[in-house]
Amino acid sequence: MTTTLREEDVDRFRRDTPGTEEVVHLNNAGSALPPRQVTDTVLDYLREESVRGGYETAAAHADRIQAVPDAIARFLGAEAADISVTDSATRSWQAVFYAFRFEPGDRILTCRSEYASNAIAYLQIARRTGAVVEVIEDDESGQLDVADLERRLDDDVKLIAITHVPTQGGLVNPAEEVGAIAESAGIPFLLDACQSAGQLDLDVRRLRCDALSGTGRKYLRGPRGTGFLYTHPRLRDRLEPAMLDLHSATWTAPAEFEIAPDGRRFETWERNHGLVLGLGAAVEYAQQIGLAAIEERVTALAARLRADLSQIAGVSVHDQGKRKCGIVTFSVAGTDAAEVQTALAAAKINTSVARPTSYQYDQEVRRLPDMVRASVHYYNTEDELRALAEAVERLA
Ligand SMILES: *Cc1c(COP(=O)(O)O)cnc(C)c1O
Repeated sequence: MTTTLREEDVDRFRRDTPGTEEVVHLNNAGSALPPRQVTDTVLDYLREESVRGGYETAAAHADRIQAVPDAIARFLGAEAADISVTDSATRSWQAVFYAFRFEPGDRILTCRSEYASNAIAYLQIARRTGAVVEVIEDDESGQLDVADLERRLDDDVKLIAITHVPTQGGLVNPAEEVGAIAESAGIPFLLDACQSAGQLDLDVRRLRCDALSGTGRKYLRGPRGTGFLYTHPRLRDRLEPAMLDLHSATWTAPAEFEIAPDGRRFETWERNHGLVLGLGAAVEYAQQIGLAAIEERVTALAARLRADLSQIAGVSVHDQGKRKCGIVTFSVAGTDAAEVQTALAAAKINTSVARPTSYQYDQEVRRLPDMVRASVHYYNTEDELRALAEAVERLA
């Protein structure tokens, strides 16, 4: 059941977030403002390391550090053994993708709205192995067309890998439907949940994905330089990581090693434990609020912002899809997106700019201008959205 957030809840979240006194932060899809619970966790740990020693501090906090995968597992409806803690969503995604052994003629199916880094990896591997990358078409709403996905399935399809929420818009792809199709066809399903984690209520049992990658700094409000990966044992057991170390594997005899059976196989030994603890604090902060409540507020605020922006002459809102989330993209006729962003920044409103080098598959069909991206979070207020709309109206 969703407990709708009240105004006093939002006031409390803002008091927890010193940045809300400084800026109107609508760049949560870039890197959200962290609550002080996250920042304090990181800083306290780093200070302790500086006076106690890195290894000694890690030993003293071993229980807390080990509890982070547990928290991520609860957040995703997974088991702790299925979680790897990494330093970015990209690193998580690469750990899975580069563990596949593709052969000439193998097919990789992806979506129009696919993220640039993932597409670049497909192209590299296609060039190297003779595997083929295919883009599943969108339906008329702009989301991945599940009927087109079904038509494309055959024994050569070795991987279905899509982005849940793209960096370039409010679209939410029908990941659960894709998961059901992939599972019944017995094809591994890799989901890039980098933009959905922390704003949508995710559950890997519902998504039926074999692997899911996410980052700390975006909607989860964690520190930069953190990420996580979920892998289902049915995929993990048959994927040998492209790279191993003494943490992801054990050197059991001079000529022997064993790969860790759990999520550690996709981690490396060295990490910033302060950041890992900060990621854990961010996950717990989000879970205390409740992801259903977060999703409800983020979705409602973004819908409100789209409606307000659409009223302004010369402004086009570009988000598509049946289901939409907290990312709002728009352009102002006659003014470059970069100029709009700069003008907004001068008014202490943080947004970002989306450019086609981030979404060439999408661009091929949609022919979008550079877009301003305003990504809202639950700690944003209607007053802040009004401030953005008024500033854009002055520019338009
Ligand atoms: C930001 C982003 C990524 C990459 O996340 P990092 O943590 O920077 O590696 C991957 N996919 C999507 C859809 C993103 O928006």
